[in-house]
Amino acid sequence: MEYLHTDDRRQVMELQRVGYWGDDQDGLPRPDQLVDANWSANERQDVADYLRRGFVARASMGYALCRMCKRQLGDLDLTDGVYVWPEGLDHYISAHDVCLPAWFVDHVHARQGAYEGAATSDRRWRDWWQVAGK
Ligand SMILES: [Zn+2]
Repeated sequence: MEYLHTDDRRQVMELQRVGYWGDDQDGLPRPDQLVDANWSANERQDVADYLRRGFVARASMGYALCRMCKRQLGDLDLTDGVYVWPEGLDHYISAHDVCLPAWFVDHVHARQGAYEGAATSDRRWRDWWQVAGK
């Protein structure tokens, strides 16, 4: 029955969207509904920095404008491989005190902790050079 596992490799990656705004009809929040000036400055900075460092998932035609101040934010979707968010989401956090859900903040902290606490190895790099450098 091993052939059943071949389908697993063909699954399309599903990225969880966060920071895409809506109106009162579509079940998505507006950024002004998430303003929380009491959110810790350190945590806010961590999350904003994390959002700025995403990988480019895709580009779209035309720039998004901030829904609160009309500043031009960008035309990219950024990702960390789990979540995808619009370029400029960090602006809402830094400039307008918009607070993201605790589950996303926890994810950011878990990722940061995993990277900072990770062991490192140069085994692959060294093994490659043992072959390629000759
Ligand atoms: Zn703005």
